[in-house]
Amino acid sequence: MLRKFKVEKFHADIIPESTLLRVLKHLDKKHIETPFLLVDCEKVREKAFMIGRYIKNSKMFYAVKANPDIEILRFLNKLRLGFEISSEGELEILLSLKVEPERIISSNPVKSLKFLKMAASCNVNYFSFDSEEEVEKMVKYVPGCNVYVRLSVPNEGSEWPLSRKFGVELDEALTLLCYAKKRKLNPVGITFHVGSQCTNVYSWNIALDKAKALWDMADKNGIKLTLLNIGGGYPIKYTKNVVSIEAIEKNVNSLIYKRFPKDTEIHIEPGRAVIGDAGVLVGTVIGKAKRGDEDWLYIDVGVFNGLMESVGGIKYTYIVEGYKNTKYKKMWTIAGPSCDSFDIIDNNVALQEPEIGNLILILSSGAYTISYASEFNGFSIPKTILIPN
Ligand SMILES: *Cc1c(COP(=O)(O)O)cnc(C)c1O
Repeated sequence: MLRKFKVEKFHADIIPESTLLRVLKHLDKKHIETPFLLVDCEKVREKAFMIGRYIKNSKMFYAVKANPDIEILRFLNKLRLGFEISSEGELEILLSLKVEPERIISSNPVKSLKFLKMAASCNVNYFSFDSEEEVEKMVKYVPGCNVYVRLSVPNEGSEWPLSRKFGVELDEALTLLCYAKKRKLNPVGITFHVGSQCTNVYSWNIALDKAKALWDMADKNGIKLTLLNIGGGYPIKYTKNVVSIEAIEKNVNSLIYKRFPKDTEIHIEPGRAVIGDAGVLVGTVIGKAKRGDEDWLYIDVGVFNGLMESVGGIKYTYIVEGYKNTKYKKMWTIAGPSCDSFDIIDNNVALQEPEIGNLILILSSGAYTISYASEFNGFSIPKTILIPN
């Protein structure tokens, strides 16, 4: 069945037209029960090659938590990317794909004992930390491992801040590096995270300034660091334009080049930027209602089964099927299918009125959607379908 979608020019500014076309073509060919997530492998491949290109001496480790679908990981593994993980579950999937331990790191500063044991048994050897307690855990389970300290940096420019939970200030970070050395771990470097969906280029400047200060303090204390892990945080487009990865990386690269030793090894851990804008969630309109002066649209993918980040402020772009009232748009409150009033995805979304049963596309929804989803209230977690490249 050929489906008609109300595609407008601005949609192709959010995700590339090529991805949109592949998605629409797929929807014409196949009938699949909604909701499901379509992932454009060509776009993933493009992003994987693009990220890190402007940062000398860099290696990329995909943050698995953004989307741990096994077929996506298999695809990224074929591209020979590294992986950043936090848990035994994530490690198990990578082991099933035969990813070598040299391509796995863990930047979770507080790791479970089960994970540490399992990581040790399969020779994963790079870990972040930000407490003496964590050093003791690693001494016990992964003696002699390579460690990098998590520095706290401002997260103001990001839409999904991560700074309150982790990270230490400069003096404490130095103490921890010295302590790790004393306990015969191998302190190799520094990490930070500017926050996810970081749209301010200067966040990396502040973070790199701080990392450089710590780098020199460590040097004065007899610890020669070699690794700078700049975390994740690269943004994607949801509804607005954002600073390009190329601009971020050129800036980061020039700061590193000016201030750090030339042979410094750089690790990058993007999650959202690798997979987010390659994914389009496909849902169905299951209801409409007028409540007071508000028009409500109910769809079969909501806060609990995929769009969790909407409650943290991420605003998606939607494309609806159908041609009714083509020119005329209404402002909608969009809600998920469950009976919980927390399940409201967005307000004031301008859309042409769809019919019940029409499809709705949610752009840039490949990251932090399925990995957050639950079957709350009996609504299914969207299946993931790869569009091959
Ligand atoms: C979540 C996370 C990432 C990935 O962040 P993005 O914003 O998705 O790029 C990288 N590193 C660590 C330590 C993380 O916790």
